Amino acid sequence: MEKVIIVGSGCAGLTAAIYAARANLKPLVLEGRQPGGQLSTTTLVENFPGFPEGIDGPQLIINMHKQAEKFGARFSYAEVTDFDNSNQHLRIKADDEWLDTQALIIASGASARWLGLENEEKLIGHGLTSCATCDGAFYKNVPVCVIGGGDSAAEESLFLTRFASKVYLIHRRDKMRASKIMADRVLANKKIEPIWNTVVTKYIADEKGEMRAVMLRNVQTGEERELAVACVFVAIGHDPNTKAYQGKLETDPDGYLIAKNLAESKHPGVFVAGDAVDRVYKQAVTAAGTGCAAAIEAERYLSELEK
Ligand code: NAP
Repeated sequence: MEKVIIVGSGCAGLTAAIYAARANLKPLVLEGRQPGGQLSTTTLVENFPGFPEGIDGPQLIINMHKQAEKFGARFSYAEVTDFDNSNQHLRIKADDEWLDTQALIIASGASARWLGLENEEKLIGHGLTSCATCDGAFYKNVPVCVIGGGDSAAEESLFLTRFASKVYLIHRRDKMRASKIMADRVLANKKIEPIWNTVVTKYIADEKGEMRAVMLRNVQTGEERELAVACVFVAIGHDPNTKAYQGKLETDPDGYLIAKNLAESKHPGVFVAGDAVDRVYKQAVTAAGTGCAAAIEAERYLSELEK
């Protein structure tokens, strides 16, 4: 029987791990197959307090991981596939093994959303990706496009200007959703060409199955045209990773876990943090904040159990 299991090793999970480990709870962190969460695939983080020059997302994650380990957190790459709260104990299935725990902190984050077009799954890794930091360097001196108008799309577009000959930013409206500072940087960059009021309706592959172009449709005029690009970077937001908890814990219609206060679910012993529960702020620092709150709540819950 574990005292605390933490699901997720992004900013929320690792902050929870630091707090739970410092409280001597020896938490077990289930990192999953893609440890580090969204920060591990980002570039410079300029808005995490304490780093006036910014810090690389992966480095921030490495630092947090080390900090949690230093205080006694344990880590496993196991992936959560199921959850059972129907009996007295909480149980979580990690790979093929059921683990019992007194308290559970769910900080499973969110995963990139895709357009849902034909051939999408086949093209991922063949000129279709959701991670500029991972794949941008493969596309030197060729045109690429980014889909979306938020901070992720802005950040990816700016990053890609280091490699690509041209970055088309395809957005379904005529105004960016991104924060002003990011939007201004995008609009000032000569290598980035925004294509407003436009959606991608089709991915077009060459005979080898590699991305060659996209079909665009102007949502105002209905006009369609082909745009040659070697890679498409999809940056249209994220969906919460909460499949294992559906029907067992309360979620909203989009799958976000529901907390009754900052980090407490309605089920005793289950605490929630980060992008799996936050559909509003979704910042590294708010994820860290709710991770901290979840660990403090878990510690209080366990102290009550022991009384
Ligand atoms: P987001 O803010 O939700 O933006 C998603 C963008 O994709 C929106 O522009 C949206 O269009 C568009 N979109 C959504 N579904 C679409 C579809 N099916 N087809 C075409 N376009 C679609 O997501 P995000 O950019 O990933 O950012 C998430 C959160 O992380 C935000 O709170 C953001 O501030 C934060 N973040 C911050 C930074 C930073 O500070 N440097 C970097 C990355 C992310 P509409 O605008 O029309 O809705």
